[in-house]
Amino acid sequence: MSPHNRRILVTGGAGYIGSNTTLQLLDAGYDVVVADNLSRGHREAVDPQRLHVIDIHDTEGMARLMMEKPCDAVIHFAAYIAVGESMKVPEIYFENNTCGSLSLLTAMRKANVKNIVFSSTAAVYGMPARVPIPETEPFAPVNAYGESKVMVEKLLHWFDLIHGVRSMRLRYFNASGADPNGRAGEDHEPETHLIPLLFRAIQTGEPVKLFGDDYPTPDGTCIRDYIHVTDLARAHIVAVEKLLAGGDSDVFNVGTGHGFSVKEVLNAVEAVTGRKVPHVIGPRREGDPPLLVADSTKLQERLGWRPEFSSIETIVETAWNWANRTRR
Ligand code: UDP
Repeated sequence: MSPHNRRILVTGGAGYIGSNTTLQLLDAGYDVVVADNLSRGHREAVDPQRLHVIDIHDTEGMARLMMEKPCDAVIHFAAYIAVGESMKVPEIYFENNTCGSLSLLTAMRKANVKNIVFSSTAAVYGMPARVPIPETEPFAPVNAYGESKVMVEKLLHWFDLIHGVRSMRLRYFNASGADPNGRAGEDHEPETHLIPLLFRAIQTGEPVKLFGDDYPTPDGTCIRDYIHVTDLARAHIVAVEKLLAGGDSDVFNVGTGHGFSVKEVLNAVEAVTGRKVPHVIGPRREGDPPLLVADSTKLQERLGWRPEFSSIETIVETAWNWANRTRR
């Protein structure tokens, strides 16, 4: 199907993954409308002509937007993402991530929009028994962030069954890297993610804390599946295409199937940048599973997706270029 004349509403399009996916959608020929309340996103990450500053809790306003700018599908990124914060103030996670999504789904009903791609997370699995993790592993979140996303996955099930709203739930592993053309990247405040924090340690000389080196892994540090944000963005495109072609609701892991320990990522950062990363070993961070690696066979086989940019070198290189860009 040609993407021409297809319009996608992207919530949270001023954020890290949302802005990268918006670029990929535009590159592929889609028309894109962005809805973002700019609470954690960046105004300059979006073409001002496409940006609507609105909160997803504003059900009537979102419905109006979808009627004024009729769209074929919604890609829903708008959410809080910090695991640590979710264990201190869970209420804002349930309010923003869960209630916000319910409001959005209600607005979609009012505007008769029937397709949604949803940003879910590996955190829905908690401490999985099987690694690499297949989509069939049960929900067992160990933090409020993961639970807030499980609840939305359940809402989506009922909205499909009762209202015929079809959804693709994408469970992301560790989004990382930046647009290879330097157009968009990661910019959280406060920053909690490993790779940008390793860069900050280089830039400031302030040591970064590695959260625990006594895990049951070969070097004692946690292992994660780092997926380049461009590959992640492309997973949204194949998912939305499947929905627009009439595909049924489904769920997919988005990862590479290969894990890197915190120390291996640190070594890759030192190799790519040619700089030493000042670091200290600290205590474990609450809610951190030792090993999270995706089985993404389903996404590869059913939707023909392949990771292309997710070597650890490309991830670090593109992220380092972004971290050193001339500020806009
Ligand atoms: N990590 C760390 N120090 C930091 C930030 C993260 O050692 O300052 C570790 C964290 O414990 C995890 C890995 O790096 O094992 C990736 O964490 P991140 O917050 O980037 O992503 P998450 O896995 O929580 O989604």
